[in-house]
Amino acid sequence: MKRFKLNLLSGLVISIILLGIIAAATTIVTTRVYRDLSFDFKREHTARLLELKVQDVVAGLEAGALRFGEQLIADGEFQAALDSPDSARMSAELEQQLRRAALTDIVGLTVYNRDTGLLGSASRSSGAAGVICPELVHRARADKRPSGRAAGLCRSGDHTYQAVILPVAATAVSGHLQVVSDPVPALAAMEGTLALPVRLVSPTGDALHVSPGWNEAVSGNAVVSAYTLAAGDGTALLRVEAAGSVEALLFRLGQTNKRLIVVVIAITLLAVAIALWFVRYSVFMPLRELSSQLSRGRLVKGGQDAGAGTGAAGNAPASFHALGELYETLQDMAIRDPLTGTYNRALLEDRLKQLIVEQRRAPSMTAILLVDLVRFKYVNDLLGHHTGDLLLKQVVGRMADVLRESDTLARLGGDEFTVILPDTDSEQALQVAEKIIQSMGADFEVEGHKLSASVSIGIALMPDHGEDVETLLRNADYAMYTAKKRQPGCAVFDPNIVAEIKAARMTLDGALSHDLEGNDLFLVYQPVLDIKTGKISYLEALVRWRRPDGRLLLPDDFIRVAEQSGLIRQLTEWIIDTACTELVSLQQSSPGLRVGINLSMHILHDYNLADLIGAALARHRLGPRSLLLEITETEVMMDPEQVIEILEQLSGRGFELSIDDFGTGYSSLVYLKRLPVDTLKVDKSFVSDMDTDEDNASIVHATIDLAHNLGLSVTAEGVESRQVYERLREMGCDSYQGYYIGEPMDKTGIAVWLHEGREVLHGL
Ligand code: C2E
Ligand code: CA
Ligand code: CA
Repeated sequence: MKRFKLNLLSGLVISIILLGIIAAATTIVTTRVYRDLSFDFKREHTARLLELKVQDVVAGLEAGALRFGEQLIADGEFQAALDSPDSARMSAELEQQLRRAALTDIVGLTVYNRDTGLLGSASRSSGAAGVICPELVHRARADKRPSGRAAGLCRSGDHTYQAVILPVAATAVSGHLQVVSDPVPALAAMEGTLALPVRLVSPTGDALHVSPGWNEAVSGNAVVSAYTLAAGDGTALLRVEAAGSVEALLFRLGQTNKRLIVVVIAITLLAVAIALWFVRYSVFMPLRELSSQLSRGRLVKGGQDAGAGTGAAGNAPASFHALGELYETLQDMAIRDPLTGTYNRALLEDRLKQLIVEQRRAPSMTAILLVDLVRFKYVNDLLGHHTGDLLLKQVVGRMADVLRESDTLARLGGDEFTVILPDTDSEQALQVAEKIIQSMGADFEVEGHKLSASVSIGIALMPDHGEDVETLLRNADYAMYTAKKRQPGCAVFDPNIVAEIKAARMTLDGALSHDLEGNDLFLVYQPVLDIKTGKISYLEALVRWRRPDGRLLLPDDFIRVAEQSGLIRQLTEWIIDTACTELVSLQQSSPGLRVGINLSMHILHDYNLADLIGAALARHRLGPRSLLLEITETEVMMDPEQVIEILEQLSGRGFELSIDDFGTGYSSLVYLKRLPVDTLKVDKSFVSDMDTDEDNASIVHATIDLAHNLGLSVTAEGVESRQVYERLREMGCDSYQGYYIGEPMDKTGIAVWLHEGREVLHGL
């Protein structure tokens, strides 16, 4: 449950946060791409700038060299030197001019005359001496125009130079002056104008110049752009590199990044808040409402494991836990009985299965108690479902009090419960069962009614009596069969019982379906006498069954089997038919004699009952007044509405009806008035000892008064003594039955009794 709640909430929040993280990651990746693009852009921009600058520098050098050359040509000394064919003079002149030159970039001067070639030269270094850029010189000298000039870059030795060649001419070209400049210092000076560190690299890879901040910039955040100076023929001469700093760019990017992430986090948090708010109002609140309605209306959420339902459902669950609460409620509904709060059959089966598996791993004994609430249903029908429900809750409460935390109490349905007792042997199980039975001892106070409830408990043990749910419950039910016949009403499953029940079923089946004449079933008759006249009122037919082993079975031993196996209808038909046959024969000596038949609840629900009895009577040419039908109070009250309908049918046909065992059920006056019955037969448990038990005597007295007020007559059964007989007479009871006047007797016995009975009666 906790787990679910956490998952639900954190799942929602985590997924939104995950989305936020994805958004943040996307932002970071995007800014990275943006950064790379910016770097590329910066690099290109710097390269472009560099190109322009370098070209500017080269153009500047060229212009300077030209100017210098033009001034030199115009110089008188130079003219004089040119005119003399003395190359030494010219060289000296050039030397002097070079020294005087303001432009230190100019590193070499060479003069060629028109015909003979080299006339003189001067240089600042040995590298710049001699013929530099011969092709350029050649091209210029081939141009005979006085304006023909040439300029360009070239490589000499391991140096790159810039050369300008001007014709020396007045009217016609008389020679050429070559001014050679070293571009390196001017290019190196770009570090100032560009405000970037630069590096100059020769084609062989030697660094010709490296700005002081170069290494630092390159190892840090910088983009390097390059521009390569080339000779006229395209040969690479000098690579100029500039390191453009991206420090500022990075700083700005970093700032943008931070801002974006802050925005993403803010949006994520906002999304979480909105989502939670939305879910709360659109999902959780309706669910909370639903959940509280469910728990208020349907369930008792007992904290106790045994499920004794105490207290009403908790308040409506708080906010976001609503869904969890609903889940809990639904889960509860799935495993709990809504009325009593005990577990339901589904959970019981589940737990049993679990125990079966555990038992196989670590052998232990588990007891399964099947608890049947005796005579519950009619409380429901009689006093209303509300009262029935309250009684059931109290019953559950008392059971739960007896049980331990580790025990499982489940409601199988109606008034049937199951208790699982782990680690319990048969002796301990019986003790618990007896405790449960004792716990029902005191009356229940329900809405002003004093109600009593008793239970029968059948016990099966795992693994001895089965290793699957179905077998265990079936065997506990078999044990219930024994329990119902015992005091205090509990029994452990005995495998022999199964054989007995099965055999009983089979034999009963055989006894009923084969030749019935002279078979093991027979009827005994017990007289009911009119208390005032002492005359016989009727004979009550009671069924007996002699087993093949000679044992005589009483109805309590096999009526239940017959009911369970569906043989009760056949049995009833047989009883009615037999009673009719024997009545006809008895009537020969006792005209007007009547017989009373006990009707089982199972047959009572048969709407053809009236036809069935009518047909039997017709077969024997008996009138309806010859039969009297007894139905126990409990059975009537199990489903009064339906039973009333059937009783009305029977009464309509002229049968006399009697409510048997009156006093053991909880008949309400409402129903009693509506029942089309003639007689109440007070149960023997009140009658037998009414001479010694005043409580019982007053119950009998009250019953007699009540019956008379309702226009019913009263029969007392179980009269065993003269005292009781006399008390009943005083109380105004109408009829009586019991060992005092006659025990149940077989066909022959009753014929004798009827013959001699009159004397007996007269003797009373
Ligand atoms: P019931 O209808 O209340 O029958 C009276 C029971 O009380 C009989 O037991 C009878 O033997 C016993 N009894 C009679 N006089 C006395 C007495 O003075 N003292 C005491 N302590 N007991 C007395 P039985 O024959 O064992 O029948 C038990 C129950 O079985 C009957 O109770 C009845 O409900 C049911 N039953 C009997 N025969 C039939 C039948 O043919 N069909 C159906 N459906 N049920 C029957
Ligand atoms: Ca009876
Ligand atoms: Ca009775």
